[in-house]
Amino acid sequence: MTFPDLVPDLRASMPALRGRLVANQPLAELTWFRVGGPAQVLFIPEDEEDLAYFLARLPRDIPVTTIGLGSNLIVRDGGVPGVVIRLGRGFGEIAVESGSRIRAGAAVPDVKVARAAQDASIAGLAFLRGIPGAVGGALRMNGGAYGGETRDVLVAARGVDRTGAVHTFAAADMHYAYRHCGAPEDIVFTSATFQGAPGDAAAIGAEMDKVTESREATQPIKSRTGGSTFKNPSDRKAWQLIDAAGCRGLTVGGAQVSRMHCNFLINLGGASAADIEMLGEAVRRRVKDDSGVDLEWEIKRIGVAQG
Ligand SMILES: Cc1cc2nc3c(=O)[nH]c(=O)nc-3n(C[C@H](O)[C@H](O)[C@H](O)COP(=O)(O)OP(=O)(O)OC[C@H]3O[C@@H](n4cnc5c(N)ncnc54)[C@H](O)[C@@H]3O)c2cc1C
Repeated sequence: MTFPDLVPDLRASMPALRGRLVANQPLAELTWFRVGGPAQVLFIPEDEEDLAYFLARLPRDIPVTTIGLGSNLIVRDGGVPGVVIRLGRGFGEIAVESGSRIRAGAAVPDVKVARAAQDASIAGLAFLRGIPGAVGGALRMNGGAYGGETRDVLVAARGVDRTGAVHTFAAADMHYAYRHCGAPEDIVFTSATFQGAPGDAAAIGAEMDKVTESREATQPIKSRTGGSTFKNPSDRKAWQLIDAAGCRGLTVGGAQVSRMHCNFLINLGGASAADIEMLGEAVRRRVKDDSGVDLEWEIKRIGVAQG
């Protein structure tokens, strides 16, 4: 599958652009599931100013999709039309600020935020150790684990909208709910400031070790997966509903419901995105038949099916 090459026209209309534009860039290698087709154009902006310049000049009819570390994504087999934005080194800065705060670029892996907080004896951010995404993904997903959630620790986030305007969002402006962010869909987050509290580095380290041990014991973290597939309904655990519906180990093509944690789907090696998505839909149907509950996808699915 290849898309028409938009890069020469984009370059010509944006002479001062500094970031990288790549036509038909395979995306599978940029996701945990390792499936899916290419981006019509992958854009890696140099910094926030470059991102704003690009978005301000991008024709309005070209769709834009942002990805982070691809740990919560299924890229469909036909690829993603339009521009896929992935933030790189220019968004990788991390700084400890006064008042037990950490400011981090949106491309900084969550684990690095947790480690920087530990080094600075800042408590309250250790839960980020358990989320294998980057700051931008945590902001958009309200990522959380082990009793902590992004909304609990966010002071403010910065981002650029589809017209290239830069905005700052206070935590309340993010309209957070469980695994949901109500900030406008077109915002590409560029950085965030997190609030912790004075703590003890050794105790924070011990907490992070506990998170690591617990994840290794309960999640297939060495597999090609997308983490929790479905949101937990308000009064139940998704994995229990999936288990009760007899889906543990269920297989479609090269995709399987993890035997270790049955809210995780895994690519056994040769899965297509369609296998994984069909498996997820099969699980939803079985759970609906068994318990009457409509499971809602937590994993984001982007792009188009193979034509
Ligand atoms: C083994 C494993 C364990 C996991 N455990 C947890 C867990 O305990 N808790 C939890 O919450 N999640 C968990 N996840 C899911 C995932 O890690 C989180 O959702 C994470 O926050 C996604 O971040 P990412 O950078 O990988 O984003 P991606 O998966 O690349 O994208 C996810 C969403 O965020 C958007 N996005 C990404 N970056 C930006 C940006 N800069 N601006 C705007 N939007 C953006 C994308 O458009 C997409 O909608 C797990 C995943 C795996 C594979």
